[in-house]
Amino acid sequence: MTDLVLVSRAADFAARCHAGQRRKGSSREPYLNHLAEVAEMLAFATDGGDAALVAAGWLHDSIEDSDTSRDDLVDRFNEDVASLVVECTDDMSLPRAQRKRHQVEHAPHLTPRARMIKLADKISNVRSLIFSPPDEWERERLVDYLDWAIDVAAGCRGVSERLDRLFNETAARARAVL
Ligand code: ZN
Repeated sequence: MTDLVLVSRAADFAARCHAGQRRKGSSREPYLNHLAEVAEMLAFATDGGDAALVAAGWLHDSIEDSDTSRDDLVDRFNEDVASLVVECTDDMSLPRAQRKRHQVEHAPHLTPRARMIKLADKISNVRSLIFSPPDEWERERLVDYLDWAIDVAAGCRGVSERLDRLFNETAARARAVL
């Protein structure tokens, strides 16, 4: 499979997995917008040099938020893409607070490319706090989310200078408006 086929196929499969899903934010963006944003950041961070990483960016929520399994990803893509997505998948059997704590503790132990996906994910999520916060979230909950995202991001730093810088800028902007 060529790089272009791999990435296009990942975008197409992500669109099917997340069809009809929307972000929690007030503008109710299609979920796919988040995936496109994460994939684009990963392409930018690597100067387009890591197609499997970009494909995994498209697919990073597919196991968590659809009935896709690791084996499906191996069959449709490859072992590398599937492993990256699994690394970025929360254990949904754990209660929410425990999952969030686990992300902070686990981030530094992820492989460098999985840390890039996590960081791009947090950049996208913090941006959405600025531009389209969920209606029902009070300021305190938004600030808590930002603090938590900063803690997760701390464990993901040091792989990509571009992503580190983007996160810093985004978090500073969020801090200023929240
Ligand atoms: Zn995500």
